[in-house]
Amino acid sequence: MARKRELSRGCMLCHRGGKMVLFVTGLCPRTCWYCPLSSERKGRDVIYANERLIQTPDDAEAVARLMSALGTGITGGEPLAVIDRVITFSKRLKQVFGDSHHIHLYTGKAPDEDTLRDLRGLVDEIRMHPPHDIWGRVAESPYRDSAVLAREMGFSIGVEVPSLPGTGDLSSILHYLDFLNINELEWGETNAEAMRERNMVLEDGIHNAVRGGRGWAGDLLNHPRVHWCSSSFKDSVQLRKRLLRVARNTARPFDQVTRDGTILYGVLKCVGTVLPPLFEQLDPGMYELKDGAVETAWWVITEFSDKMPGEKVIIERYPDRGLVVEVTPVA
Ligand code: SF4
Repeated sequence: MARKRELSRGCMLCHRGGKMVLFVTGLCPRTCWYCPLSSERKGRDVIYANERLIQTPDDAEAVARLMSALGTGITGGEPLAVIDRVITFSKRLKQVFGDSHHIHLYTGKAPDEDTLRDLRGLVDEIRMHPPHDIWGRVAESPYRDSAVLAREMGFSIGVEVPSLPGTGDLSSILHYLDFLNINELEWGETNAEAMRERNMVLEDGIHNAVRGGRGWAGDLLNHPRVHWCSSSFKDSVQLRKRLLRVARNTARPFDQVTRDGTILYGVLKCVGTVLPPLFEQLDPGMYELKDGAVETAWWVITEFSDKMPGEKVIIERYPDRGLVVEVTPVA
């Protein structure tokens, strides 16, 4: 019989799409060859809440409200390179959403006692990412000491790494951890060359997953405190559920929320300020004038296309006027 997995609290909330991703800086002292950061973020001191570029704790609070966030995952870059920022943002989120707003923090560092003291009461869970070249001796490294100390101080403590050759070596530190998360290694625009140099290839033509990850983790995957996070899970469950939460909070009466969490609506372009007579028959909540165009339900555009002269399209995009996924012209 399969043993029950002991998922971290942060992972449980993430499975529900309930975690806001707070990227606190793209700065990082390390140069991991597999670093997945995009060129817009890598090495730049920028802050993002989910996909939105932000600046202040007010902005982060607004994004968290938009998705009815149950918690926040703080990531980077190296978040502890801007520890004051981590503290300021975490404080705000805990103040406005309460202690139950679960905060987990990624770091490439092995936090010392002073750092842990600064984070206590603000960060609930710490996920350390030791450098790849020490995985074989990680149980004799400062990461083991940090794990022991963090546990004593009441943090949930784990290691989170991408699946790389040698992942199985991390079994030596498992005894000191509450969890070990292994993320399927992903091919990206900034690490593609390093992947090719190491003869890595994609698993298939659909996902970004790199072939071989599960094999590198080996028997570790059978351990109940080890969690494998696949690339397809991140897209199909984690992101989709997060988008659905935002969509439910932000969709206009005429927006259709799709099963993927995207929004569908129709646009009649260039109407200026004079609406075609058809719209006088519609409930005012069923359309909106925006930038000289009228936005309405996609089916209004397709069904009454012949009564609306001008260019018409159906748009599918991420909620809250996010990324446009598809624009379909309507004849
Ligand atoms: S520690 Fe993380 S952010 Fe820094 S270089 Fe490595 S993978 Fe990139």
